[in-house]
Amino acid sequence: MPEFVMSIDQGTTSSRAMVFDHAGRPVASGQKEHRQFLPRPGWVEHDPVEIWENVREVVAVALSRAGLTRHDIAAVGLTNQRETTVVWDRRTGSPVCNAIVWQDVRTQQLCDELAADGGPDRFRAVTGLPLTPYFSGTKLKWILDNIPGARAAAEDGNLLFGTVDSWLLWNLTGGPDGGVHATDVTNASRTLFMDLRTLQWDEAILAEFGIPAAMMPAIRSSAEVYGTVHGSQLLRMVPVAGILGDQQAATFGQAAFGPGDAKNTYGTGCFVVVNTGPDIVSSGNGLLSTVAYRLDGQPPQYALEGSIAVAGSLIQWLRDNLGIIGSAAEAETLAGTVPDSGGAYFVPAFSGLFAPYWRAEARGALVGLTRFVTKAHIARAALEATAFQTREVLDAVNADASAPLRELRVDGGMVGNDALMQFQADILGVPVVRPRVAETTALGAAYAAGLAVGYWSTLAELAANWAEDRRWMPQMEETERDRRMRLWKKAVTRTFDWVD
Ligand code: ADP
Repeated sequence: MPEFVMSIDQGTTSSRAMVFDHAGRPVASGQKEHRQFLPRPGWVEHDPVEIWENVREVVAVALSRAGLTRHDIAAVGLTNQRETTVVWDRRTGSPVCNAIVWQDVRTQQLCDELAADGGPDRFRAVTGLPLTPYFSGTKLKWILDNIPGARAAAEDGNLLFGTVDSWLLWNLTGGPDGGVHATDVTNASRTLFMDLRTLQWDEAILAEFGIPAAMMPAIRSSAEVYGTVHGSQLLRMVPVAGILGDQQAATFGQAAFGPGDAKNTYGTGCFVVVNTGPDIVSSGNGLLSTVAYRLDGQPPQYALEGSIAVAGSLIQWLRDNLGIIGSAAEAETLAGTVPDSGGAYFVPAFSGLFAPYWRAEARGALVGLTRFVTKAHIARAALEATAFQTREVLDAVNADASAPLRELRVDGGMVGNDALMQFQADILGVPVVRPRVAETTALGAAYAAGLAVGYWSTLAELAANWAEDRRWMPQMEETERDRRMRLWKKAVTRTFDWVD
């Protein structure tokens, strides 16, 4: 058996390839950002061809940095930004348009039209999801309705739909030359088309959206050999053996395998996932029901999820749109020059609010301003926004779940920010714990792939790899915590009903 496993982590802002060893330690990685296209307010697109080229490049970089060849790699796992929608021609491999990214809200009107008959929760019982632009369903319908010739080509069987995992799998395994067109249950559970119980596409919903079933990928488990890398590529003949959407991958990488296990990932957005075991728990508090993972030949494990649209991307916005910091890391330095936010609250409802509010018509607000407030206070308020939003989602989790969370496992790009993690513990009132391998998303996909080919044998073996790096204990007085939460909630109400 080769000594290493590779993970391809195709995220919202960048693509990464990471090599892991048997102890789950990262050995080497390559990373490259891709362009964000923002052609109109509320629209966010990526170029799928650029993403595929970047993936090939970072795979080469990771291999070369590790001094390895394909013979050293037992399997490749894929993890990806979820919901982002790609449609391409099966004969040429060319996308019919840019990918529509999960953050894109162009289909709000379409959602309203579909909700006119039965309300925004009309597909929730089958799919676990509310009807919002976030999920792939209305994005795919938008492409078929708006890209000239797309619907006819789809009906002729020439177009394929996929989330980014499917796009990469198809290309890795040969593209027009025999590429495998498949996805895993976790990605499929984010489309609005999959029946959470049967784990199959729901024909009635596909028909209602006008989606030809022939363009849909096959739904497979999260850990099995889907195919091998095509002979024309660097990793030729290596099995592609794991697929998990990024948040489910992070949950898997945190070894949150059993009911009650939870994690929060702080990246572009923030995503709390709580494993609910073999039961589908339906939320009364604005959380999504989704698939956590399914191992080949075994029953699925489900999860409750609280999705927050804007977290790290608010820090990018401070950098790119306001120019008050030069890098994400500088947010911490700048915020550290003041003891608090000076009374300012920043609700980053840039594309509406996700969990627990699900208000598409909300827009961002910076409130509580006085002449005292400086850019340092604004940086602090921006960081605090992530912690407040997480607290609101965990309140919803605690209301839905049988037992309250006793601590929160964290990962993602923002968890290197010590001030944010301390504030998070303060505002939650429970400890926040960071594992030694913070790259849990990439690790989770590597775990799935390694399990599928026998590189690892059991979940217990993976759980034994988990090790604590750092723990932040709550230090804030309860009265102060409550006061801040009250003000935050008031600030949130200021964003409602903005789009008329
Ligand atoms: P994704 O996988 O969603 O692309 P990552 O997990 O790589 O995201 O995290 C990147 C995000 O984290 C960016 O939005 C960036 O602004 C934010 N970020 C990175 N470092 C810091 C930091 N020290 N403080 C605050 N935010 C940070």
